[in-house]
Amino acid sequence: MLVSEVMLQQTQTSRVIEPWTRFMVRFPTPSACAEASLKEVLTEWRGLGYHRRAKMLHEAARTLRDEFHDVVPRKTAQLRTLPGVGPYTANAVASFAYGEPVAVLDTNVGRVLARALVNRRLSPSEASALADELLPRTGSASFNQAMLDLGAQFCRATPRCVECPVATHCAWRHQGGEDPAPHSAGVSRPQQPFEGSNRQLRGRVLNALREGSHSRRQLLRHLVGATASRRDEVLAGLIRDGLITCHEQTFSLAGD
Ligand code: SF4
Repeated sequence: MLVSEVMLQQTQTSRVIEPWTRFMVRFPTPSACAEASLKEVLTEWRGLGYHRRAKMLHEAARTLRDEFHDVVPRKTAQLRTLPGVGPYTANAVASFAYGEPVAVLDTNVGRVLARALVNRRLSPSEASALADELLPRTGSASFNQAMLDLGAQFCRATPRCVECPVATHCAWRHQGGEDPAPHSAGVSRPQQPFEGSNRQLRGRVLNALREGSHSRRQLLRHLVGATASRRDEVLAGLIRDGLITCHEQTFSLAGD
């Protein structure tokens, strides 16, 4: 559950299934991941992007091995101490893995709350308070899953109100007016397009280095089309994030 939630943080479900399966076969326990090198973890992360998540997950695995007897904790306060685990991921793991009574709030749920319940824009703290208030005393994991599905399947950026199972109770549908949840409903920042982004360039560098070390000249061939300053920025960013290293003009995956 923790691995899937970290992978799903900024990646669609359909793109996570294959890497998640591969990752869990290779690292079935936190200690299996903790004892692997970062290079091995980055290799199993292929296809997912946002590689800092892999580094954080590797660090979280080491914390789980060293401080939690190789078991993911159930309380959100403890989950939040793990590297890379923010409020959404902590609540999702606590709810879906352990049935803890905590609300799971992402962009999709934020849209449902703003549109169906109050028909006005919500600040992140208002959305969080409303999600907590709405949580039933029993069956909270099923309720959270239903809210996520409602937002993902029906209450999308362009809503499918005609087919929506809660349409008869929806405040926005009844009252009308401007969409109270445009873009990401104030819950998260919208993602920038992938094509032409630094994310795309970072992915190209890491894909090349998964095959082995490269000289600077060899590596720059994978960044054709980017300006010199952009290429420097991408390489410096990867070194700063601890994902790659550079010794005497030779670049390698960190932990190689
Ligand atoms: S009726 Fe439309 S706006 Fe209301 S919750 Fe359903 S999909 Fe969202």
